[in-house]
Amino acid sequence: MVLPVLLIGQNKIELYGVAEQGGLLIGKISPKIENVFFDYKKIEIHNNTFLLGFDREAKLHHILSIVFDNGSMRSFRFEIKKKDYDIQEIKMPKSKAKYFKPKPAETISRINQEAENLRKARKLIEGNSSFEFCFSSPIENAPISSKFGAQRIINGKEKKPHLGLDLAAPKGTAVKAMNSGKIILTGDYYYNGKFVLIDHGLGLNSIYIHLSEIDVKIGDEIKTGDVIGKVGSTGISTGPHLHWGVRLNDVDIDPEVIPKMDNLFLSF
Ligand SMILES: [Zn+2]
Repeated sequence: MVLPVLLIGQNKIELYGVAEQGGLLIGKISPKIENVFFDYKKIEIHNNTFLLGFDREAKLHHILSIVFDNGSMRSFRFEIKKKDYDIQEIKMPKSKAKYFKPKPAETISRINQEAENLRKARKLIEGNSSFEFCFSSPIENAPISSKFGAQRIINGKEKKPHLGLDLAAPKGTAVKAMNSGKIILTGDYYYNGKFVLIDHGLGLNSIYIHLSEIDVKIGDEIKTGDVIGKVGSTGISTGPHLHWGVRLNDVDIDPEVIPKMDNLFLSF
């Protein structure tokens, strides 16, 4: 994916990406713009770029306010598309049934510790602003086995919605980074199995879970398309697949929009 050639004149703002619930927009602005407010909240700008994220249930009407270097301000209203989500019934095999039985105290403390590690790693991301506009899918042309936002019913019990995208691929298939960045955390966790968490800058991060193999280490700098691991079925998983998650700060993004990021949505 490459950014289309942009002729950014004075005081121009362009939004790329998919404007819908679960969507992500990339804003490109001229250097004459000093500040951008999204729904009245000031947002981070780096190299004349900023990111807007919309979660699964995001409201449909938004307001973008732009403050120019002469102090004047203009506001633009825009609407995002509402999404309908699947309801998905899943039967977990007996071999994974241990995950649903009451857990011993040491397992609970392990799970809590692992959740804390992920929270801390994501906090570190807030300080990084470098960001590159170049996206691709971790596995090109892989069939989607579970969409973002699906309401899940596992062995008859209602669970949290699915906040990533599942790509079906045989064990051992190479998994590639969706965007340039830095490896911020890896591990072999109770729920995730083997996973890699990447910081892409401006609060954007991606996670790749249930891997059979991890091919990077914490601190590695990677480019879009670099191999970071191999597809597997570690952690809670019904069979080999990649669970790919994307977040902008604390907003879960639908990874399916990522390969469509060079769409021009709006230009003012
Ligand atoms: Zn998944």
